[in-house]
Amino acid sequence: MKVKTLLFLIIFQTSYIMSSDNFGIAVHGGAGVMKNLSEEQKQKIENKISDTLIKAYTILEKGGSSIDAVEFAVAELEDSPLFNAGKGSVYNSNGVQEMDASIMSGKDRMAGAVASIQRIKNPIKLARKVAESTEHVMLVGEGAEIFAKNIGETIVDQDYFYSEKNLKRLKKAKAKKNAGIQSATQDKIGTVGAVALDINGNISAATSTGGMTNKMPGRVGDSPIIGSGTWAQNGVCGVSSTGHGEYFIKYQVAREVCARIEYLDKNIRTSSKEILNELKNIDAEGGLIAIDSEANIAMPFNTDGMIRGSITSKSTLNVAIY
Ligand code: ASP
Repeated sequence: MKVKTLLFLIIFQTSYIMSSDNFGIAVHGGAGVMKNLSEEQKQKIENKISDTLIKAYTILEKGGSSIDAVEFAVAELEDSPLFNAGKGSVYNSNGVQEMDASIMSGKDRMAGAVASIQRIKNPIKLARKVAESTEHVMLVGEGAEIFAKNIGETIVDQDYFYSEKNLKRLKKAKAKKNAGIQSATQDKIGTVGAVALDINGNISAATSTGGMTNKMPGRVGDSPIIGSGTWAQNGVCGVSSTGHGEYFIKYQVAREVCARIEYLDKNIRTSSKEILNELKNIDAEGGLIAIDSEANIAMPFNTDGMIRGSITSKSTLNVAIY
């Protein structure tokens, strides 16, 4: 047999053996008190989540990468005013939107993040560019926006993010006595995130947010922090979190889910549920979505609801809020 033919056969066989029947994606649109959602709002949210999941799943079905699938899904949700990310981002105490996002590939621990950015249409796309085109993991504020301009990332006017509803939320938060940051979990607009496993066994995760209404200017939550808001590790799991960011940073929630699987041999459901229960005990509200290397999904939360959905090669489309 010629060397070339032999090489081809080896490469073909390796990729065949390495590709798997299991793949899938889960997304979330934030955890929080969602009791007041009207039927119409619920329908809109569920439709957007379903539509996003179906399109992202098609990427995976065609053999696309998990990093492309999670970036696509999060960017879709960032473009919708229904969620607290990108277009729908909530206001800080100065009446300005400051957005945070991060993305990670479990294949090689490639990770990128942006924080406190004000004029980028899709923070998640910029986070990926930070990972792929710089030597850094996180860029913030003005530096991140200059980088975006230099690489031709879409920059928009602040008017693009204008939202009457979010201004009302800010007013309400300010009117409350002792108004500190109002947890996004106490409102019905939420952070977005995605986790995916592709046919090559690569796990990726991504998270994007406008943070918390009435937060201090410059406040950064867990969403852009690798290990807190986002984590991806091949062979173990991928996680995107949502909730009261300060706690999620202090308890390194996303990484913790995977660490318990890796070191304590827990399954994804036990590991993630346990952590959410522990957070509940210290009044830390939120939820997370997680996927493991066999496309098992867990989507626990300790709030009234969490906008969430998943579709995998072994389970049909599933979208829920409560
Ligand atoms: N975790 C986000 C933050 O603290 C908010 C949320 O997920 O609702 O910025």
